[in-house]
Amino acid sequence: MEKTAEIIIIGGGIIGASIAYHLAQKGAKGVVLLEKGMLGEGSTAKCAGGIRAQFSTEINIRFSLKSLKFWNRFEEITGVDLGFKKVGYLFLATTEEEWAVFKANVDLQHKLGIPVELLTPQEIKYRWPFLKVDDLQGGTFCTWEGYAGPYEAISGFAKGARRGSVKIYEGTEVLGIHQKNGKIISVRTTKGDIASPVVINAAGPYAGEVGKMAGVEVPVLPYRRQLFFTAPFPWIPDSIPLVIDFHRAWYFRREGAGLLVSGPKDNFPSFNINVDYEAMVEVAENSIYRVPLMEKAELNRGWAGFYEISPDNHAILGEAPACQGFFLANGFSGHGFQHSPAVGQVMAELILGEKPSIDISCLSVDRFRQGHLIHEPLTAFKE
Ligand SMILES: Cc1cc2nc3c(=O)[nH]c(=O)nc-3n(C[C@H](O)[C@H](O)[C@H](O)COP(=O)(O)OP(=O)(O)OC[C@H]3O[C@@H](n4cnc5c(N)ncnc54)[C@H](O)[C@@H]3O)c2cc1C
Repeated sequence: MEKTAEIIIIGGGIIGASIAYHLAQKGAKGVVLLEKGMLGEGSTAKCAGGIRAQFSTEINIRFSLKSLKFWNRFEEITGVDLGFKKVGYLFLATTEEEWAVFKANVDLQHKLGIPVELLTPQEIKYRWPFLKVDDLQGGTFCTWEGYAGPYEAISGFAKGARRGSVKIYEGTEVLGIHQKNGKIISVRTTKGDIASPVVINAAGPYAGEVGKMAGVEVPVLPYRRQLFFTAPFPWIPDSIPLVIDFHRAWYFRREGAGLLVSGPKDNFPSFNINVDYEAMVEVAENSIYRVPLMEKAELNRGWAGFYEISPDNHAILGEAPACQGFFLANGFSGHGFQHSPAVGQVMAELILGEKPSIDISCLSVDRFRQGHLIHEPLTAFKE
């Protein structure tokens, strides 16, 4: 392995891979990506692949719009078929408070050019008769959205990065980061030291641990989320939106001939990756409540992964203020997959000294110290 590099990326999830890809596209040389396991084996492998524009803050919508442009041309750009199924997202509001917030969100989304429809419960029932709607205030639907394959996405980014001469080392854990007088010097890995003036923390749920190595506090914590899958389920149409029952923090979509249904998200941080089969009871209750036909569903497997949550559920992007050359791309709080193209691009621009094509100043890690957290009207929904 190299003894020196120009830029080191720690973490080979979708974020590290996208940053590597965009650096390569811009002609950066001497880029090394270090992954302790295998590419994409972290949160990226566990993700539901959801891609949407219906966010409630302008900064998240800007990341969605830039990313959607990339996802729409992914195969043409990278040569890998993303399997992007544009079935739309259908958000359901139960309480009057939720409905008021949904309507305000749609105003913002319309202002930014996103064709989101506001639907009455009757309109929802007409389009998707398998949904229970009698307790709903309404819903919002946008056809630009859907879901894609995380494996395909990371393969496309990694392929492009390698073509651009990025060196990717799997099975290589970063154990320490050395800095001197507030400047990054080198990293220590299980395969030796590499000197580099620039290090990017793209360690997903481990961002806090990697931050500590450089003496930088990165307020990101891992929260377990479980997902379950049913056996083939022929009782509803093959093509349905990704449906989000906001009130129950529950969602489902097609997964092949079966269904993917969300399980609980823990309320406390941990690195527990086990599946609780008791969680299946909650899953079954939520499923049958919203889709009564799902009493026929057979839940037959599941897995758990980590959201990497920041204190205001927004990403942390930029150079660490007290450590020159240490860049953070962390805290995506459940939507890092869908925003990875835009994150990769703005991080590459920033690192190479260009003006980022999205203004990311509000995402600086310093906002927590300064008390400038980003406000969301309701707790952010997380896929
Ligand atoms: C159940 C679930 C469903 C989700 N669904 C969606 C969705 O529908 N849409 C969406 O946009 N997002 C979704 N997400 C969130 C999404 O998966 C994450 O935001 C995204 O994958 C984060 O990517 P990452 O590259 O930052 O992290 P990761 O994929 O976790 O990658 C970080 C990598 O860093 C490596 N690493 C850590 N420490 C070190 C070290 N010291 N040395 C070397 N390597 C190291 C890890 O091994 C890991 O591979 C979901 C998450 C979960 C858990």
